[in-house]
Amino acid sequence: MNTDNIFWGEAAIVSSQVEPSDWVLHARCRDSADILFADNAKQREARQVCRECPVWAECLAEALDNRIEWGVWGGMTERERRRLLRKHSDVRSWRELIRRHQQATAGAHATSGSGAR
Ligand code: SF4
Repeated sequence: MNTDNIFWGEAAIVSSQVEPSDWVLHARCRDSADILFADNAKQREARQVCRECPVWAECLAEALDNRIEWGVWGGMTERERRRLLRKHSDVRSWRELIRRHQQATAGAHATSGSGAR
């Protein structure tokens, strides 16, 4: 499956150093989680918080793998996640899929030299 259109491009190079159980500690919304369960208009605001979150991938995987139906998780609204789950109903582990996507994206950046400083 080509995951380029599923996940955010640049933001995919994230938290490979974060232990699975520790990701919540790094959540950008840790002190303002209420915004993530707001209604439609506020959800746009919430997504902005997620875009700069270092653990968005872990967060999104958690919501997708556990079929969490409420709120913004990993920058996706419940509606977007439902659509994604319907479209890719064959995915057994979103955590694994996202991890592979991150590795592929990081590899592509390393090959192109854009990740080197
Ligand atoms: S991606 Fe968004 S909802 Fe998930 S931990 Fe980060 S800020 Fe919170």
